[in-house]
Amino acid sequence: MPEAFDYDVAIVGGGPAGSSTALHLVRHEGVRPHRIVVLDKAKFPRDKPCAGAVSQLGLDVLSAIGVDVAVPCVTMEGVRVLQGETVGETVDRMGIVIRRTEFDAHLLETARCDGVHVKDGEGLSAIDRCEGRRKGFVLTTTLGAKVRARFVAAADGAGSTTRKLLGIREPDRKGHLYVLDTERVAFDAAIGRGLVDFDLTVLEDGVEGYYWDFPTMLDGAVQVSRGIYHANLTRPDAATIQGSVKDVLGRALARRGIDIAKVKLRPFSTRPFVPRSTGWVKGVLLVGEAYGIDQTTGEGIAQAIEMGRFAASHLAVAFRTDNPRFDAYEREVRTSTTGRHLLQSAWMARRVYGRIGHPARRFLLRSAGARAAAIRWYRGESLSMSTQLRLGLGLAASVFA
Ligand SMILES: Cc1cc2nc3c(=O)[nH]c(=O)nc-3n(C[C@H](O)[C@H](O)[C@H](O)COP(=O)(O)OP(=O)(O)OC[C@H]3O[C@@H](n4cnc5c(N)ncnc54)[C@H](O)[C@@H]3O)c2cc1C
Repeated sequence: MPEAFDYDVAIVGGGPAGSSTALHLVRHEGVRPHRIVVLDKAKFPRDKPCAGAVSQLGLDVLSAIGVDVAVPCVTMEGVRVLQGETVGETVDRMGIVIRRTEFDAHLLETARCDGVHVKDGEGLSAIDRCEGRRKGFVLTTTLGAKVRARFVAAADGAGSTTRKLLGIREPDRKGHLYVLDTERVAFDAAIGRGLVDFDLTVLEDGVEGYYWDFPTMLDGAVQVSRGIYHANLTRPDAATIQGSVKDVLGRALARRGIDIAKVKLRPFSTRPFVPRSTGWVKGVLLVGEAYGIDQTTGEGIAQAIEMGRFAASHLAVAFRTDNPRFDAYEREVRTSTTGRHLLQSAWMARRVYGRIGHPARRFLLRSAGARAAAIRWYRGESLSMSTQLRLGLGLAASVFA
């Protein structure tokens, strides 16, 4: 019997969220790969501005479905938290740093090799609902083609076209980042040991976030991804913030002996996962940064991969039941360890970066136990009640220190 739709699901976006959704549908849910299409406006391998730190959580989720990360990488051996002259260092593996161009192309190619229909270089430009006997969607691509699918997974990142076309509200302001790569300089002693630096000195200049130095594999050598993340929690005027964030970045780079005028800077935004974030509308679920990412760190690769796993399991149910409601997906994301971490992170961002964040920052700088817990949290592990209690007491002591 001919099938009414070309595909059971059209996944819009072939980044980590989209690829993970496709791979989990095939490898974990047993969905026939030719029933899945991935549309991406970019031709892969495509460039993606990113520092490329992937928490162990993302690697574990991929490994569970037999996807290895066969791309050049640097292991993150631990963390340094810096503020002025004070440095807190903890060595404990956190994950890896990859180049997004290679990593994302590898995941999408793995899905293509599994038999998924991948249309890269062909983006979504319009979406229409079919409300007849057979409900679903007609997606018009940037090449003018029509793709008919029963369900849509919006995995098209911070600027999600799917969200815009469907009129899904933005619940919070986006974060701002600048990213650049340079060779190592004398300041970068810890980079050779595989440590990632989070420099909180920039908070003194009004940025709600941090400056980073991460080791990264570029042209076969360990170099440095640098940048600044501003969570954009309180300031009303985005244009002013962009300018001042750049100035603060310039000062952070100058402390490292780097002239901002001589480097290639790339501005970008991130969409935070906050309590009011929308995870679905009828027939459509949002995955990865289209849904939201970690507001404290500005990171979301591992979370996007994990959300792809949840999305696949709920899509597989929808294929069987024809039910267009994805409220169970939203519930599972929010109650999972990853979702709880995302929500905690939205809560924490205001406490750590806000005016009252001084004790929390001091605690992180001075307490090895706090950093060890932060690394476990970063890896996606749950913290035991006793650890949480110790952290609470340590933080309280820091308030009165
Ligand atoms: C400067 C910077 C540094 C960062 N550093 C880190 C880090 O170190 N670690 C970390 O975990 N996270 C980091 N992040 C966040 C990270 O990049 C995101 O969390 C991650 O990319 C989310 O994956 P995704 O698959 O949801 O979206 P994306 O990776 O953004 O993928 C979305 C895809 O959708 C495609 N697309 C967009 N519009 C359309 C359309 N109309 N039709 C079809 N396709 C479309 C895009 O081409 C893209 O391929 C950083 C972000 C920035 C900006």
